[in-house]
Formats: sequence, C-alpha cells, structure tokens
Amino acid sequence: MSRFGLELPTIQNWSCHNCGGCCKQHGIYITDEEHDRIEKQNWTEQDGIPAGQPLFVRMGGLIGKRWWRLAHQPDGSCAFLDEKGLCRIHGKFGEEAKPLACRIYPYAFHPAGKKVVVSLRFSCPSVVKNLGRPVKQQSADLKGIARQIVPDNVTELPPPMVSPGTNVTWPDLQRFVAALDETLAGEDPVVIKLLRALAWMKLVEQSRFDKIEGGRLTEYLNLICTAAEEDVPTDLTELADTLGEPSRIGGAPFRLLVGHYARKDTYADETGLGERWRLLRNVLRFTRGTGEIPLVQDCFGPATFESLQGPFGPIPQDAEEIFTRYFRVKVRGMHFCGRAYYGIPLIEGFYSLVLVYPAVLWLARWLATGDGRDSLTTDDIAQALAIADHHHGYSPAFGTWGFRRRVRTLAQLGDIPRLCVYYSR
Ligand code: SF4
Repeated sequence: MSRFGLELPTIQNWSCHNCGGCCKQHGIYITDEEHDRIEKQNWTEQDGIPAGQPLFVRMGGLIGKRWWRLAHQPDGSCAFLDEKGLCRIHGKFGEEAKPLACRIYPYAFHPAGKKVVVSLRFSCPSVVKNLGRPVKQQSADLKGIARQIVPDNVTELPPPMVSPGTNVTWPDLQRFVAALDETLAGEDPVVIKLLRALAWMKLVEQSRFDKIEGGRLTEYLNLICTAAEEDVPTDLTELADTLGEPSRIGGAPFRLLVGHYARKDTYADETGLGERWRLLRNVLRFTRGTGEIPLVQDCFGPATFESLQGPFGPIPQDAEEIFTRYFRVKVRGMHFCGRAYYGIPLIEGFYSLVLVYPAVLWLARWLATGDGRDSLTTDDIAQALAIADHHHGYSPAFGTWGFRRRVRTLAQLGDIPRLCVYYSR
C-alpha cells in the first residue's frame, strides 16, 4: 500500500448508541467472500431469524465476480437486526464478523493528495448530536479500517476540477478547502457564513487559475475572503431586503430537490407499476407546489406546501452549532465534490452542499407543522439533517444530469443565497 497520512475530523465526536437506524435504512453491499463467510456462520430460526427470511439478495456478477446485499425484513430492517434493534452477527460473533460496510459506517474516507481525509455521514443521529468519543481518539481503529478499504494507488488519484476545465494541483485544491473551512468556522450565524462562502466562490468561478498558484493563490483567497466578509451584511433583515425572496421560477427545482431529500429509499418494492405511478404523482405534486404535501415518509405529518412558507422564527443556537459542524466536517473531509460526490467539480459540489441548508430547514418545518407547531426546535433540525444527509452523495439520483441541472439553475438564478436567508427566518 502506498503511504498516506490520515486526517481526522477533530471537531467531531462519535460512538455507536445502538439505535439501529443505520440497519433500517441503508443497503449493505457485500463481497462474495463476505457472503460466503456469513453463510458459513450457519444462521437458523434458532438464532431468531424469522422463518422464510432470505439473508442475501444477489446483485450482479452472473458471469464474473458475484456481489450481494444483505436482505431486508418486510419493515425495511436488515435481515440480521433483532427485535431489540441489535445486530445478530455482532451479538453472536463480535464486531469483526460484521460486513466491512457496517464497520465503516458512519465514516467515509476520501483521497486528498498525499493524505486521506475522513468525513462522517450525518444520517447517523449520534453524529448529528456529536455524541460519543472524540474521533481523534479513534485514530488506531480508523487506520485499521483505512488499511482495508483505501486502494493502493490513492496518492496518485487526481484532484477534482475547481470548475469544468479548470484543473489545479492537490496542494492548491487544499488551499480552496482551507479557505472554505476558515469561512465556515467562527461564531456568526451559519447562514451568514454560507453567504460569504458563496460570494467568494462566485469570484473563483469567474477567474482563471493557470497563473495563480501556490502562495499567490493563498494571497488571492485571503483577499476575496476578506472582501466577502466585509460585503455580506450580518443583519438578516437587511440581507432579506437586499436579496429579495427566492424567484418563482426557482421554486419547482428547489421543491424537487427537497422531494429527493425527503424520500425513504429502503428496499421496499419500488419496481411495481403502482409504486412507479405513486412516485410520478409525487414528482408532479412537488413540481406544482400547492396543496397537501405527499407523505413520503412516516415521520412527516400532514402539511400543505403553503404552510411551510411563513416565518418560523430564528434558528435555535444548538442547531447553529450542528449546521456549522456539518458543513466543516463535509468540507474538510472532501465530502462534497470529486470522488465523494459523483465526480462533480469543487464549485458545483459546494453549491449542492449549501443547498442542504434550506432543504433541511424546509424538512424541519414540515416535521414541526406535521406535529402542530409553527416554530422549529433543535430536534426538528437534527432529524431533518439526518434524513437529508442519508442521500447527499449516496443516492444515485443526486449525480444525474437532471438533478445537477436543478442545482445549476438555482445557482444561475441567484436563488441559493435567497433560499438560505428565506428559510432562516
Ligand atoms: S449486518 Fe448487523 S450491523 Fe450490518 S446492517 Fe445488518 S444488523 Fe446492522
């Protein structure tokens, strides 16, 4: 294996709290070797596996190497999850016997030149709430996992483009990442920090970097970051007046994007004609954006699209901390562009990442409204973030041409900062 350093998200804590959530919502893909190893564990009804419950679903490899996913119970839980929400494989044979995918979660490892950076998935509620041991104390475990999953040629992988056709070296790409992280750190409301980052990213999008590199790039980034800090007002009312409301034309792409985040994509049968018809009807209703919102997951109560548009009050302070940590972990962990995000360039990936903010606030408003409230709690936002981040970078739909076009449309309309401010009130 090539030598690489492992950079950990030192602002984050995490330990598993056995909520079983990940075992109910993720597809666990396993190799042929893992399949054979689990099969040899000889699971029977005496172990509590329900009668007639298949353990594996074959995914492919009719001719070459085979691969599989663990089967799901009718309620969407993994075949090995018991009634107490615990893993039967872990209980009987220990942590090491579980599939690698289960041992990696919620961590994610991404190439970053001579190092590999670690990020976390906020679909895990313990990650969202920062519960457990500091990640920096888990270095030995994470190095062990990295040795198993990081490919030999990781230090030779090229960096993502900054924008289409604009290539820079890894050290220069890290300069952009460091500048983003610095903009997102600090005590100001997260919406202000996101708007500053969007402001200087827009300048980067209009610039060429064939002659600006190394120390000169750092100077340039310092200059535009300072300008953005001075230019973006810190008063939300003033910002809302300056920017205006999100455009009507941007409403449909934004709702469709939120509709994707709201979906539950466990392994219920989504291939039948009835299910496809239901999905199509939901798409049409999210496009129209009036009347009742289709209930795409059990956690959402009845609400109309219109009811989510009024002011819901300021974002709770604890939620500000969650958002700041989320964006910094994703940025430092390179979890928004390149290999971690459908091969998308840095700037477009950052626009997508920023859109998580208004999307989460929209979902949080839906959770609150469905519960009969008209203001947001930290729990609403934490739950909405876990729902949204389940998909971000993982749902294949987010890497499609149609989804990317929606993000680009919102960027071109200037709606991304407007949406951030509009749903912050
Ligand atoms: S194998 Fe165990 S840890 Fe992995 S998803 Fe199934 S129940 Fe959860």
